[in-house]
Amino acid sequence: MQKEIPYKIYLEESELPKAWLNLRAFMVRKPAPLLNPTTFQPMTQADLAKIFCDELAKQEIDDQTPYIPIPQEIVDFYKMYRPAPLVRAYCLEKALGTPAKIYYKFEGNNTSGSHKLNSAIAQAYYAKEQGLKGVTTETGAGQWGTALSMACSYFGLDCKVFMVKVSYEQKPFRREVMRTYGASVTPSPSTTTSVGRKILEEFPGTSGSLGCAISEAVEAANRLDGYRYALGSVLNQVLLHQSVIGLEAKTAMDKYGVKPDVIIGCAGGGSNLGGLIAPFMAEQLQGKEHYQFIAVEPASCPSLTRGKYAYDYCDTGRVCPLQKMYTLGSGFIPSSSHAGGLRYHGMTSTLSELREQGLLEARAVEQTSVFAAAEQFARVEGILPAPESAHAIRVAIDEAMKCKQTGEEKTILFGLTGTGYFDMYAYEKFHDGKMSDYIPTEEDLAKGIAGLPKIDL
Ligand SMILES: *Cc1c(COP(=O)(O)O)cnc(C)c1O
Repeated sequence: MQKEIPYKIYLEESELPKAWLNLRAFMVRKPAPLLNPTTFQPMTQADLAKIFCDELAKQEIDDQTPYIPIPQEIVDFYKMYRPAPLVRAYCLEKALGTPAKIYYKFEGNNTSGSHKLNSAIAQAYYAKEQGLKGVTTETGAGQWGTALSMACSYFGLDCKVFMVKVSYEQKPFRREVMRTYGASVTPSPSTTTSVGRKILEEFPGTSGSLGCAISEAVEAANRLDGYRYALGSVLNQVLLHQSVIGLEAKTAMDKYGVKPDVIIGCAGGGSNLGGLIAPFMAEQLQGKEHYQFIAVEPASCPSLTRGKYAYDYCDTGRVCPLQKMYTLGSGFIPSSSHAGGLRYHGMTSTLSELREQGLLEARAVEQTSVFAAAEQFARVEGILPAPESAHAIRVAIDEAMKCKQTGEEKTILFGLTGTGYFDMYAYEKFHDGKMSDYIPTEEDLAKGIAGLPKIDL
């Protein structure tokens, strides 16, 4: 007999994951290697170690080791805010009148407000281990910068954040959270780097972009002795660290004999979704179980649903390695969407390859329908979701409503990646009926695709 499922399924400390799951090790056809941006040859560990900490360079390349032990100091930090609750959304189910059983894994229970801390603490730990002085990074909407600031302060490392100028000005509270944790925050483009100065000369008054901030952060890390660069998504190492999300979720569900039929997550660079699906996809790749996996992206930035599977640059400044991925082109500038964390032109190579193999579905959803779902969710489940997370809520509700029509009692699991307290301007626009749903035309997309590097392999 199935045990009665509580509203929240917590795990004991002893049940927390002791190793991360490296999904690539389970794939027969592996994601393509990263390429050096000047030679177009596969990046070696030594190449990567010039940008990232040694241990992270190693993790980035490793597509063979299935489980990588989590160092004890990271386990201890995780204990401060993990396990993240797995919630049975009884109230949402009731409000929808659906026979579906809905679960969500909530990653917003820490001050940074999102799952990004799971990788930030790992990246800071390895920098500390290597005896570095600090790390540099970029932040767009601010979630990643906040997470890395918290992680660096815990290990006594310096943290230099290049924050896209428009966010720096529009989200002063995010900036102050970072400074509270001791980070220095520079609006990007800035005059502190040569790439920043060049962009300011060419486009005076520009409000900046994520691609530009990445280039500045990489340059700063190169120039400063004892610094490396840290990135909050897209990379293999980040997906690896985020596997704690899926490992905890699976352990909790297994405890109650529950198996999800559908697993849903929002996808920006792909790290939370990659982490959530990791243990489930690993089972499927071994032929043990079958699940339906759905990536949800904004219709304004539709890399998985309308992009091309090709090698592309990870940043606008073209200083980072190239990745084979579903991409809209590194020159693609999405229209202003309020889900800042989902405005990336590409998608991590692991998810891209799984999509190419037909193992991952993708859906694009429009902004106003996302906020409608966010509000519906907030009113019954209490949590005020981040706009990014609400993309997953949208599709979870859509799937649950399909079940209502067919009478199927599917079990749905989705990732609730964070809270939206710093996104109230976006909520305000939605409430005032001033939010738009811009969807790029084929012409818009063709421009970005035309800018893809021409590489013969
Ligand atoms: C950054 C962010 C995302 C998207 O990033 P992924 O790497 O795709 O997971 C989603 N939700 C929140 C709350 C974020 O901060």
